[in-house]
Amino acid sequence: MDVLLVDDDPITRLAVCAALEEWGFVPVVAEDGHQALTKLAEKNPPHLMIIDWSMPGLSGPELCKTIRERSDGQFFYILMLTGKEGSEAIVEAMEAGADDFVSKPFDHRVLKVRIAAGSRIVRLEQTLNQLASRDALTQCWNRRMIDELLLNAVQESRRKNNPLSLMVLDIDHFKKINDTHGHSVGDIALKHLVQVLSNNLREYDQIGRYGGEEFVILLPNTGEEEAWVIAERMRSAVQLQPATANNELSIPLTISIGLAQCNIELKEELQQLFQRADEALYEAKAAGRNRTMSAEKIGTQ
Ligand code: GH3
Ligand code: MG
Ligand code: MG
Repeated sequence: MDVLLVDDDPITRLAVCAALEEWGFVPVVAEDGHQALTKLAEKNPPHLMIIDWSMPGLSGPELCKTIRERSDGQFFYILMLTGKEGSEAIVEAMEAGADDFVSKPFDHRVLKVRIAAGSRIVRLEQTLNQLASRDALTQCWNRRMIDELLLNAVQESRRKNNPLSLMVLDIDHFKKINDTHGHSVGDIALKHLVQVLSNNLREYDQIGRYGGEEFVILLPNTGEEEAWVIAERMRSAVQLQPATANNELSIPLTISIGLAQCNIELKEELQQLFQRADEALYEAKAAGRNRTMSAEKIGTQ
């Protein structure tokens, strides 16, 4: 686990880094509060932190407050490591948002167990987060999370005036797979499908499971034509790569896809966007399945 160490004193940094490495952590170093905030804004930031109190620029308590204000739902465990001691300092640090407090010069054994306690909480929080946001079977986003991501994506697309496409897809005749081979083979097919779809997504696309065998894919910054190309690529990838169950049984799969564009000018409600993608999916099913339909194309017919 990464641990962000924020301290302006090079000697403390050396000592704490050496200790962290000895205890199996990966130290990430910042020399002041601003560097720390930059590191936290990067992708996959450390969630466990050791912060000094007196530093040029932002002080430790100011940094704690800023992190808490900006955390945006993310959890950070903050241990304040400081030359200060006594009740007043502990209260001030923890009121500013610190989770724990250790005075310098620190006892190695004390810091070790305090960091171990912090890492247990961080791990627990990560597990809870995973359970709350991922679909248990396929590990793609669950409905709650994909709804939240969609809302953010719509807001961002409006702010930046960028296109956004929504794909709703559903496995064709999935019930037949369950009826023929059993529910557990159906589950294998669902997991396989998510794998194939994920392999064909770009880094910033998001996939979520919306219901039984229905999935939603967000394509940020993607206009109608490009979304169509991506949808068709996914559809043929699924068709070309059957699922394999019990090492031998090959389960061919096809999907039908409904596409819709988020209409920035109309400030369309999310629900309407979904409804249009759903209608397009319904048309794809009605037209014989294993095909893509776009809400824009239906609208012009
Ligand atoms: P269509 O082409 O019209 O979509 O037909 P379909 O058979 O795929 O659709 P239908 O809605 O009739 O059946 C969906 C089936 O998906 C029924 C349900 O039992 C199954 N299902 C839903 N969730 C799961 C799951 O988690 N695992 C498995 N194995 N099956 C599931
Ligand atoms: Mg200092
Ligand atoms: Mg289906």
